Parts: sequence; C-alpha cells; structure tokens
Amino acid sequence: MRRVRRSAAIALGVGLLLGSGAAAAGERIPPQRCSYDTYTWNVKLKRAVARRRVSHSYYDALTPEEVDPVTGCTVCREDQTRIALPSLPSFELCHKLAPRVRAALRHLLDRGVPIYEVAGYRVGKTRGDADAHGNRTRFSNHAFGIALDVNPAHNGLYDRCPVFGPGCRLIRGGRWRPGEARASLAPDGRIVRALKAAGLRWGGEIAGRQKDFMHFSPSGY
Ligand SMILES: [Zn+2]
Repeated sequence: MRRVRRSAAIALGVGLLLGSGAAAAGERIPPQRCSYDTYTWNVKLKRAVARRRVSHSYYDALTPEEVDPVTGCTVCREDQTRIALPSLPSFELCHKLAPRVRAALRHLLDRGVPIYEVAGYRVGKTRGDADAHGNRTRFSNHAFGIALDVNPAHNGLYDRCPVFGPGCRLIRGGRWRPGEARASLAPDGRIVRALKAAGLRWGGEIAGRQKDFMHFSPSGY
C-alpha cells in the first residue's frame, strides 16, 4: 500500500512539472478500500452526533455523496496526502490538491510569512439542509480534503455578514484584524495571493451572509 501511494505521488509530481496534473492524477493507482471517521452536525442540539467509522470497498461501494463531483476527491482517508512542513503541524488534503498547496505554503514559510496553523481534511456532515431531526445532510469541502483553514485563531468565521463590518457576528475562530494582527489574512496579502495562484478561492471574499476568513477551497465555500 505504501509503495502504491509513493509511486502515485511521484507520478503526480512529474505531471505537475509537465503541466499535466489532471492526466497524472488519472494515472494514480486507486486504493482498494475507503475508510473514514465521520459525524453529523445537529442544528437543534448544536453538537456533533452519530460519530462513526466507515470502511468499505472503494469501487464497489463508493456512494455519490462520498465524492465531490467537481474535483473527484472523496471522503476516503486513502485519497488524502499528508503535508508536513517545518514549523507547521502536519495536515491532510486530497492528493489532487496537495502538491500545489504544499508548494505554495513552503514558498511562503521559506520567506517568513506567518503561518502558524493549517487544518485540512476532516470528515463531517456539516452542510446542506437539516432533516426533520435537525441533522445536516451533506459533507463539507473539508470532508473531501479540498478545503484548508489558515491561522483560524486570527481569521474567524462570521455570520450575518454580507459585507464585513461591525454588525458581523463571530461564530468560530478568532477575530479578523488585518493590518493589526500579523496572522490575520489581508485581501491583498501574500497568503491570499499565493493560494489563489494555486487555484483556490478565499472564504473572505465569498458572496452570502457568511465570511470565512480562514478558509480556502476551489469554490471558496
Ligand atoms: Zn474551513
């Protein structure tokens, strides 16, 4: 298993060098199993419920909800790549995104840009409409390993926030204070620019009632 994953990583790296990441990803030898730990967020109880471990065959038993239709990334731990960089606790992302995110973060860290904490893959049903019991019904982009949170202690998630201002309500993470706190992400700052160049959108610029200043993903959500 380990040998399979290493050769896949090399193939992906070569593909990126040649500018053919998609083709290289297609050559990756798929895993045999899909396993992950998950939970469901209950909006009535305001807590995680139904914590469970899932393990099944990769090809025979992957369900549509376990696959992100845009990227093809899945909730399976076997599809995640661990990113370990000096001075940063390691985290996992989908193997299709991991090489370019790792390269971008490495470039920033080498130049002393303040990145203290990054979170990536974590599986949970925290999106979608709640059912009659209050249970959310869809996996988040973190569940597919296609979202990362940077410096959450200084880049909070705000609700009631169509445009950022004093009326926005902080619901997770720490206050966003660009220009005051070094670890807060500025819209034109190096971290936001580098991750955009890597093909991600920033949750600080998404439309709607929420602004998620720690968050990056292909859609921004
Ligand atoms: Zn996030």
